[in-house]
Amino acid sequence: MKKLALVTGGSRGIGREICRLLARDGWTVAVNYNTSEAAALELAAETGGIAVGGNVASPADVEAMFKKIASELGEVSLLVNNAGIGEYGLFTDLSYERWNELLSVNLGGAFNCCKAAIPAMVRKKSGCIINIASMWGEVGASCEAAYSVTKAGLIGMTKALAKELGPSGIRVNAVSPGCIETEMMARFSPAEREALAEETPLGMIGQPSDAAEAVRFLASDAARFITGQILGVNGGFVI
Ligand code: NAP
Repeated sequence: MKKLALVTGGSRGIGREICRLLARDGWTVAVNYNTSEAAALELAAETGGIAVGGNVASPADVEAMFKKIASELGEVSLLVNNAGIGEYGLFTDLSYERWNELLSVNLGGAFNCCKAAIPAMVRKKSGCIINIASMWGEVGASCEAAYSVTKAGLIGMTKALAKELGPSGIRVNAVSPGCIETEMMARFSPAEREALAEETPLGMIGQPSDAAEAVRFLASDAARFITGQILGVNGGFVI
């Protein structure tokens, strides 16, 4: 079977490392981006794949994205729902619009991409879906209610789809990172980063490659009997 992967939000951060490691394992990778076109094109050239633009929150964009991938590469056999946005602030200051935006991107994006990817996987009785959750979806984060809700939703979706799609030969898992050094952590001051590292039993903040290695494993045949699991990559922050 052709190893064709789509990584949403592949242009930066954790997604970029996922694209690199998958390419090294022989996957042809479609690198999705929303705003970082130049970075996605550069990464696609580096990894031998293609860059595909599109806002995952938009069903029309996702449909167009899958059409482009189908016409240039074929049918997606591995979907990594990585695209995500965060929001930090008091719940009482959170607007309904922003709440909906987080739901639309983090959870709706995975919904749209799963809807587009699953029919071909079912037809082939083979496929793999990996959702990038967060430890805050497991335990909840103060001042990140909307974000925590979306990640908890992804965890629920992972478990439900694993049961629904297992009989069709499709595995569905999640990687649940802790604090990982990307632009998403840019709002933290050096002192706050140090405090987060100290709070982590392994005494450090993770790198994008730490989360990407977990994806690489779950995508591989070595994980062929693993589905419905939430693999924490958090240095022991949440156990
Ligand atoms: P990041 O550096 O901010 O990168 C976010 C990526 O998501 C970018 O490639 C961005 O694409 C893409 N994206 C955002 N909105 C999008 C949309 N509407 N449609 C398509 N792509 C979109 O974040 P990161 O830290 O790598 O996070 C990646 C995933 O890991 C997220 O789901 C995040 O919640 C999760 N996570 C991160 C951490 C952490 O500590 N960093 C911890 C736990 C979980 P463009 O640049 O092209 O717009």
